[in-house]
Amino acid sequence: MWTQVFYVCGFTLFSMSLAENPASSTQSQDHMGHCQYIFTVSSLDGSSSCTGAATERDGLLSRLTLLEALVSRLVGGTDGDTEGGLQEAYAQITGERDQLQQDKDRLAKQIQELQRRLSKTSLEVESLRLKPCQHTRGNQQDNRHSPRTGSENSFSINAYQEMKAEVTEVPASYLLLERNQTSKGCGELIMVGEPLSHKKAESITGKYGVWLQDPDPQGTLYTNNTVWRIDAVGRDVRQLFAYEDMNQFSRGFPMKVLLLPEPVESTGATVYRGSLYYQRRQSRSIIRYDLTSESVVNRQDLPHASFHGQYPYSWGGYTDIDLAVDEQGLWAIYSTDKAKGAIVISKLDPESLEVKQSWETNIRKNTVANAFMICGRLYTVASYTAPDTTINYMFDTATDTGKAIAVPFKNKYRYNSMVDYNHALGKLFAWDNFNMVSYDLTLGRSGQSSR
Ligand code: CA
Repeated sequence: MWTQVFYVCGFTLFSMSLAENPASSTQSQDHMGHCQYIFTVSSLDGSSSCTGAATERDGLLSRLTLLEALVSRLVGGTDGDTEGGLQEAYAQITGERDQLQQDKDRLAKQIQELQRRLSKTSLEVESLRLKPCQHTRGNQQDNRHSPRTGSENSFSINAYQEMKAEVTEVPASYLLLERNQTSKGCGELIMVGEPLSHKKAESITGKYGVWLQDPDPQGTLYTNNTVWRIDAVGRDVRQLFAYEDMNQFSRGFPMKVLLLPEPVESTGATVYRGSLYYQRRQSRSIIRYDLTSESVVNRQDLPHASFHGQYPYSWGGYTDIDLAVDEQGLWAIYSTDKAKGAIVISKLDPESLEVKQSWETNIRKNTVANAFMICGRLYTVASYTAPDTTINYMFDTATDTGKAIAVPFKNKYRYNSMVDYNHALGKLFAWDNFNMVSYDLTLGRSGQSSR
């Protein structure tokens, strides 16, 4: 349409030129006999030269061509160009996104490697702290000959080099001893060892469950060698298996099967001072079941606690209420409507089951796979399926503060449904996809941070 308007305007101007400057024509034949018509029009400014008119015509043609191109783009070519531009921009953004994803993957791998190195370094530092310094005679002689002002530095350098050498030569048996020694301290968690499978469940009812040893047994019927096990798959879980020791447990020979009077919910049960503590199915009731008398000796509702799938851990399974035991006693890990899904920790009286004190964290319960207590500190596991995950958060009830951490943790069988701490053994017990596994732990010294 714009082109037509332009042509109309151009023709009108040309016509006006003819009207103001009369034209003449002549007719003749060329050398080939063709008829030639020659039209003569006076120039607009009346000059006799044709050069200016030709230049002006060429200029007009150029502008006309330019305008036609512009009009063409405006009328017919806009959508195509826009679409082409968008496609080009989309392709560019897609490329940048792919590049960012690659960068992200690369950085994630670097972070994982750094976490692994940090954990290894922490272990080495802790080993050095506990190993008494033994200086060789040569070093002492060197120190005596050192200038007085430099002797202290010289000693430090020698001691450092000596300790550094010891780190590289420390035997495996010594490291094992260190773990046992440090595990009895109450420092922060530094390292979790490789999972060791003790038993694989025989049937589908054992895909997930609870297995434990009592860190502080009472009476004589059961000892700290007794192993307790509940296969937690099913709607009416009541069987509690007792094994004489770890050997019988691994061989699959229970010494007794106790039938609980009320069904168990999920995998949050624990054993402590001769009692099994567990959440009754589809309720917030905590039951204390005495293992010797085989009877319920106490029960109490955990105030405001969510249950049966309201605020479970990330793997679900009605893991709303998780009971735990550590050096300081019995704990409940759960959430409430008031906390809106954040983890609440309550210290329970093991006799009365009354809540003695509570702490509210800012950890979303459904974003972590499991949790356990060590020395009054809550630790959360980031994933229940990732073979290489981390203990990703720690909350200290002594200071009422929490922080993000990154202690490597392995889900060897990729479906970890229960993780609990046994302070007498300094180990974690876990149930990972039919496998009942344990992990050795390394704790820092009391009052010292792992970071
Ligand atoms: Ca737990």
